[in-house]
Amino acid sequence: MRLPPENLDGYRLLLLGEFYTLRYVNDRSVRLDSVENILYLPDKNPRERLVKWLKENAKRIFTEATAEKAREMDVEARSVSVTSARTRWGSCSQDNSIRYSFRLLYMKKELVEYVITHELAHIKHKNHSPAFWREVEKYVPDWREKRKRLKSMGAYMEVF
Ligand SMILES: [Zn+2]
Repeated sequence: MRLPPENLDGYRLLLLGEFYTLRYVNDRSVRLDSVENILYLPDKNPRERLVKWLKENAKRIFTEATAEKAREMDVEARSVSVTSARTRWGSCSQDNSIRYSFRLLYMKKELVEYVITHELAHIKHKNHSPAFWREVEKYVPDWREKRKRLKSMGAYMEVF
C-alpha cells in the first residue's frame, strides 16, 4: 500500500476493493469512469474535492446498505453518519447511532457488509459477548476471517 503523494495524478486509489487511477482534468466535477477504472479529479483543489467526494459516496452507499441490512436483521438504527475516524471502521452508540469511517469505502463490499452487520448487531448487544457474535454469525458466517482481513487493512486508515 502506497500513501497518496502530494501530486495525486496517477495515484491508484482503492474503492470497494478495486483500484482506480486518479487523473487531473480541467473540469469542475469529480467523475468516475468505471469501464477504464479512472477517477477524474478537478485540477483545482483536487485533494479537497476527492475527500468530499469520498465522504458523500460513503454516506450514500453506507446509509442504503445499512437500511437494507437493518430490515434483514429486524433492528432500527437511529441514524447513520460518516466520520473521518482513523481508529475504527465503524461504531454504534448507546442510542443506536451508527457511524462509519469514510475510509471503509476502500474495502471490498463483503468487508463493508461485515462492518455494517457488526454495528447493527450492537443494537441488540452493546458488547462483544458470545451472544453478540452469534447474532453476527447468523448473517456473516465467516466473520472471523473477515475481521482478520479488516485488521490487516489497518494501513488504509492513513489514506486521506
Ligand atoms: Zn463492536
